Amino acid sequence: MKKILVVGSVGIDDIETPSGKVEGVPGGSAVYFSLAASMFSAVNIVGVAGSDFPRDIIDFMQTRGIDTKGLEIVDGQKTFRWSGRYHDDMDNRDTLLTELNVLETFKPKLPEEYKNSEILFLANIKPDLQLEVLDMLNRPELVISDTMNFWIYNDPSKVAQVIRKSDVFIINDSELLLMTGENNFLAAADRILEECSLLKALIVKLGKFGIYATDGKEEFFLPAFPLRQVADPTGAGDSFAGGFAGYLAKSGDFTFQNMKTACVYGSITASYSVNDFSIEGLKDFDVEDIHEEFEQFKKLTSF
Ligand code: AMP
Repeated sequence: MKKILVVGSVGIDDIETPSGKVEGVPGGSAVYFSLAASMFSAVNIVGVAGSDFPRDIIDFMQTRGIDTKGLEIVDGQKTFRWSGRYHDDMDNRDTLLTELNVLETFKPKLPEEYKNSEILFLANIKPDLQLEVLDMLNRPELVISDTMNFWIYNDPSKVAQVIRKSDVFIINDSELLLMTGENNFLAAADRILEECSLLKALIVKLGKFGIYATDGKEEFFLPAFPLRQVADPTGAGDSFAGGFAGYLAKSGDFTFQNMKTACVYGSITASYSVNDFSIEGLKDFDVEDIHEEFEQFKKLTSF
C-alpha cells in the first residue's frame, strides 16, 4: 500500500441547495479528500485551520486513521470560509463568499516523515501552496492535482505550472473550458495533454454525467452513479479524487487501465458524499460495503 499526502483547504462552509440549507459546517478540499481516501489507504494531511474549526472533526479524522500532524491550528485566527448556493440542476452553483482568512499567510511545514510520500494529492487550494509543498518533497511516484475557477481567474499561470508538474490532473468541464478558452471539452482536454508533457492522464468531471478520462491515446467514459436524490454536491469532486487516489494507493498500480477502475471507486465514493450535507455522507462510507454499487456499475456499463 502506498501512502498519500494531501495538501488542500480546511474550511467552514455555508451551503444552500434545493434540498436545504446548512451554516458553519465543516468542509474544504483536504477534509473531503482525506475522509474519502482514508477508507482505502493511509493519508497524511497538510493544511491550516483557525481556532474556530471544530475539534471533534479533527478527532473524527484521526479515528479514520488520518494523520493530522501536518494540520496547523492557528490560535485566534479564522478558518478559510466559503459559501455557495446551488441552482435547481445541482450542477451549477454561485459562490457567495470566499474568505481566505488563515490561508492568506499560511506557510506549510512538512513533518519529516511526509517527505517520502509516494502519492501527492494537490487538492484545490492556492496554487503557490501546491507548488511549495511539491518542492518540499522528494519527487513522489504519482502527483495528482486539482484546482477551481477561483484560482483559474486569480492566478492562471501558477495553475498552469501546477498542471505541468503533475502526472494526473482532475478538473471539471466548465473549469477546463475556462482555462483553455475552448468551447468543447474534448478539444480542451487534447490541448492540455499537448501542452503538459508529464501528464499520464487527464480526468474531466462532468457532474451528473460522470467522468471522462484520457491518457492521450485511449479514452474512457463512465456515467455518474445513478442517484434519484442529491442533498449537497459540495465536495463531490474531492470525494471522487479521494476514492480514485485511495484505490490507486491500495493497488499500487498507476497504469491507465487501473485508473479506470479507480474512477469507478471514486464515483461510488462521491455518490456517498452527495447523499447528505457537508461531510455527513462520508461518515457512512465504508469500502467493505460497496460491492453492490460496484456490481451495479458493471451492469450499467456493459452491453
Ligand atoms: P468542491 O465542491 O469539490 O469544489 O469542493 C468544495 C469545497 O472546496 C468546499 O468545502 C470549500 O470549503 C472548498 N473551497 C471552495 N472554494 C475554494 C477555494 N477557492 N480554494 C480552496 N478550497 C475551496
